[in-house]
Amino acid sequence: MSNIPAPPILLTPGPLTTSDRTRRAMLRDWGSWDGDFNQITQRVRQRLLDIANAADTHECIPMQGSGTFSVEAAIGTLVPRNGHVLVPSNGAYCQRLARICRVLDRKTGTLDYAENQQVSASDIDRRLAADPSITHVAMVHCETGAGVLNPLHDIAMVVARHGRSLIVDAMSSFGALEIDAAQTPFDAVIAASGKCLEGVPGMGFVIIRRAILEKCEGNSHSLALDLYDQWVYMQKTTQWRFTPPTHVVAALDEAITQYLDEGGLPARGGRYARNCAALISGMEAIGIRSYLAPSIQAPIIVTFHAPDHPNYDFKTFYQEVKKRGYILYPGKLTQIETFRVGCIGHFGEAGIPGAVEAIAQTMKAMGIARDTAAVTA
Ligand SMILES: *Cc1c(COP(=O)(O)O)cnc(C)c1O
Repeated sequence: MSNIPAPPILLTPGPLTTSDRTRRAMLRDWGSWDGDFNQITQRVRQRLLDIANAADTHECIPMQGSGTFSVEAAIGTLVPRNGHVLVPSNGAYCQRLARICRVLDRKTGTLDYAENQQVSASDIDRRLAADPSITHVAMVHCETGAGVLNPLHDIAMVVARHGRSLIVDAMSSFGALEIDAAQTPFDAVIAASGKCLEGVPGMGFVIIRRAILEKCEGNSHSLALDLYDQWVYMQKTTQWRFTPPTHVVAALDEAITQYLDEGGLPARGGRYARNCAALISGMEAIGIRSYLAPSIQAPIIVTFHAPDHPNYDFKTFYQEVKKRGYILYPGKLTQIETFRVGCIGHFGEAGIPGAVEAIAQTMKAMGIARDTAAVTA
């Protein structure tokens, strides 16, 4: 008999907890030339397009690697070398996006906000009006750093009205928060296998407007990260250009089937929203405050103020919560001490209350539980 304890639930924004069905889909090997595998790739691409209601207008190009590889591929492929990118920035992933643009030697400007603020469509409107040299706006939909939801639709309408190109890092929102190509104009949306679709990590994908993609030949600075080349090769051969992450693709296919069985985006987004609400109220009840105003909190990951107590340190806190079955995430804010808890992944209704209970027990064990008697007295 096996004596392996159940692995902890990951309350992290990818990799995240996946279902047994998804993991079981990786128990066989596939040849990258094989027709059966290439059918899986085709089906995954088609269903990803359908999730964004983009099949008529866009193409889905998968890319090997973590999500950042696809962001870098999208910038390099879509932005010509003499392009000029504006990055509205309210956190770490926005900063990474701007850094990618600069590393690729594209002219880049930022519009900077505090980490507890949304980026503003009207600010972008003014900036685009003032600077006709800006060719692209590259934004993050859910800024996973603090957990802020940025107003994608409003920004998309502004960018379209100015006739510029919009590139969206929707890594931590795709599949859970609505992105409808028929309602929200965009030239590229980037996401990955191991986030809200609840696949395993290892590949990203970019949904690119076909009319734009057709003109992207030669833009890329990179051989391996050229989405135009990947697309042309895939159209011609049905194969990936270089070795595909076969098991990851098979797992994503299986994860998407479960996503559709669950009820697609409304069901997935609804489940995460319930997790998020239960998490914030449960933590409040044990004296831990969330960082963001509820109106700008995305239901993906929540930043909490660390307990204000001399006994607190994240490492011990993390280990104690892990012993009780849950993996937390460190904070990513520069100024204040925080930690993060993800709302996404395949865990049941008991997951969030169980995590809150584990955190409450940990606080008692560390001697940092709130003295509720004193507070209510
Ligand atoms: C997860 C994530 C990425 C990609 O991160 P990787 O570590 O490369 O997978 C990019 N942008 C956002 C907003 C994310 O949440």
